[in-house]
Amino acid sequence: MSGSDRQDRVWDVAVIGAGMAGMAASLFAAGRGLSCIQIGNGGGILFASGLLDLLGVHPVASRRVWPSPWEGLRSLAADRPDHPLARIGEASVRAALDAFVAALGDAGLPYAPLGEENRTVLTSIGTAKPTYGVPRSMHAGVDALRERAPCLLVDFRGLREFGARQIVATVGSAWPGLRSVRVEFPGFEAVPELYAAHLARVLEEAGPRERTIGLVKPLLGDACAVGFPAVLGLGRSGRVHAAFEAALGLPVFEVPTMPTSVPGLRLKAALEGAVASRGVERRLRAAVGSVTFGGECEGGGPAPGTASLQLGGPSGGERVVARAVVLATGRFAGRGLVAGRDRIREGILGLPVEQPASRESWHRREFLDAQGHEVNRAGLLADEAFRPLDATGKPRWPGLFAVGSILAHQDWMREKCGSGLAIATAWAAADNAARHVRGGGGAA
Ligand SMILES: Cc1cc2nc3c(=O)[nH]c(=O)nc-3n(C[C@H](O)[C@H](O)[C@H](O)COP(=O)(O)OP(=O)(O)OC[C@H]3O[C@@H](n4cnc5c(N)ncnc54)[C@H](O)[C@@H]3O)c2cc1C
Repeated sequence: MSGSDRQDRVWDVAVIGAGMAGMAASLFAAGRGLSCIQIGNGGGILFASGLLDLLGVHPVASRRVWPSPWEGLRSLAADRPDHPLARIGEASVRAALDAFVAALGDAGLPYAPLGEENRTVLTSIGTAKPTYGVPRSMHAGVDALRERAPCLLVDFRGLREFGARQIVATVGSAWPGLRSVRVEFPGFEAVPELYAAHLARVLEEAGPRERTIGLVKPLLGDACAVGFPAVLGLGRSGRVHAAFEAALGLPVFEVPTMPTSVPGLRLKAALEGAVASRGVERRLRAAVGSVTFGGECEGGGPAPGTASLQLGGPSGGERVVARAVVLATGRFAGRGLVAGRDRIREGILGLPVEQPASRESWHRREFLDAQGHEVNRAGLLADEAFRPLDATGKPRWPGLFAVGSILAHQDWMREKCGSGLAIATAWAAADNAARHVRGGGGAA
């Protein structure tokens, strides 16, 4: 496609950002038959654990953990109606999560069937965490942890991202049957430091895999299940995991390692495959520098009803024109929000940011304060259709939508709702963008 062809094309939707929310928005927009271009790279997904939280904790102050995210969401809707997840009907949240997990499965990253309950999983530091969507390769760990069954946790000498002994030390008093064992990774006996992604690639080969299994099998003892760091394959993790289970004759589960992690790499690859297979065009090495809206520029600018995005970065100079724009640029880490000396601002359009009155009230004195920090609820205000508001309280532009962690009134890390927030708001925005593009005005 030539530069001028690129500029002449009017896309239905342009998605800015390629974190969890941007990937979900692209997936869902394309799934609704909209032509879609996505700008940005998905480096942030590499930090993800592969676990898809929906709602684990609410209220944050009392740290109430919800066995069922659906009951938790009903309570959230009653207590915090302005929370983005409280503004989406349960049927849509369910449809969004189902569609997202199905797309990952089709792209070679199978998840255990979603249900009514949160699952509790072991983390790389030995704590237990409630989550909703669990990759199939991690799921046997949910049963093992719940039943406190005799279990063997294996690690590899030299792998710094994961320590089985530390996990047992942390969780062991509550799970006496959990044992740890450290083995040499076959063929790497002389290598001082090992990397999870490298081991995952090596375990896709039958030889090293069989030698690893051969080392672990005599150590099983009374174990009813075997845990490994999340290194059981990269692109073919389903097959590698199945091969371990078949050869060891026991349920096998992975425990996520410290980020950046193999599950993050798998998720990124699967999402990239999923959006590519739906025809989403991507500008991976570009960033959006500015956006102008049709009808707002004197003597020129994009046609009414369209927005023009000016791209920067290595493929800079390109202009993308679209009928709807989804802003999925994240919070501070993603740089969707930028913390200045006194104020927090939105990075591209200068949209008003809901935030504490002054910098002094961004954080509480104690880092681990049960209430959380006000700054972690800062973000964009949006109407019922997830259109961000301008300073007058009206949607900034009828075809502009905001999704994911850039939205105000949520603390995804403490509420354990990061992926659910990203996926469900992306679903709602894709619905509204489709309505807008097809002439319905974008109302929810
Ligand atoms: C350490 C860590 C652990 C996590 N663990 C979990 C977990 O256990 N369970 C779970 O459910 N979720 C987890 N998550 C993922 C979390 O759910 C999501 O990161 C969160 O929901 C935010 O997603 P987002 O897409 O809104 O923002 P981000 O992930 O921040 O993505 C925003 C993207 O926008 C891009 N961007 C910003 N400005 C521009 C621009 N001008 N042009 C183009 N692109 C731009 C950024 O580069 C970035 O890629 C974890 C995340 C992290 C960082």
